Amino acid sequence: MSRALPPLDLHAHVDVGIASRDLESLGAVVFAATRSLEEAERALARTDLVTVWGAGCHPGVAKAQANFDASRFSSFLADTPFVSEVGLDGASKVALHQQRETFAAILAEATHAPRLVSVHSKRATSQVLDMLEAAGTRGAILHWWLGSTPETKRALELGCLFSVNASMDVADLREAGVPLEAILPETDHPSGNRTSSVPRQPGRIADVERSLAAVFGATPEVVRAQTWRTLARACGELDLDDLFPIPVQRMLAAARELPSSAGGTP
Ligand SMILES: [Zn+2]
Repeated sequence: MSRALPPLDLHAHVDVGIASRDLESLGAVVFAATRSLEEAERALARTDLVTVWGAGCHPGVAKAQANFDASRFSSFLADTPFVSEVGLDGASKVALHQQRETFAAILAEATHAPRLVSVHSKRATSQVLDMLEAAGTRGAILHWWLGSTPETKRALELGCLFSVNASMDVADLREAGVPLEAILPETDHPSGNRTSSVPRQPGRIADVERSLAAVFGATPEVVRAQTWRTLARACGELDLDDLFPIPVQRMLAAARELPSSAGGTP
């Protein structure tokens, strides 16, 4: 059963003008982050079978931050289970107070209507956790997380998941106490997979599955099954299934049928 489930990529950047058949040929379920409301509007008008487009406003993109509008963002949530890419960036040229204002408005919407929220926290890990905690956000997935061990433990207590890419050392996460059950794979194409084997493309998370398997003493098949169970559990808790494309809804249902012996941390 688990072999029938394709690779999962929880954070990739994809040209919103890409042909549907090119997305389908990736052979993976890809969660595609958008950086601005303009990009999100175009993305959410698409109807793709195995791509989950997010509504996002990247903290590092000045124009996107300047044009952010909370009610417009809110209107997108009816069309997607996924909010991405949002958060704070300590290296951004955008003033931190503006980033915080945008992120707070997004978290308020995503607390009212819970979604999977892929969160950027570069050089702002502690502040991101403060804001997630203040907003009471559920469904946060910390993308490319580089927080300290105490911050990672705090993130776990807040119920966050972690999406990891090939540029990260997953052994650090395990040492900080993150279980396999809290981890999802991502490429962060085209940034996070610079070191991956070719072809580098969204959905190619074999390297990540292999490193997770090595660090957690499992097989890549067990990792695949567990990551699908983790996603399915999160979607079930937040009641998000109906917002996914029909083929992905079927995969989520299949993931819930997987026997626990098909995965888990040995
Ligand atoms: Zn990104």
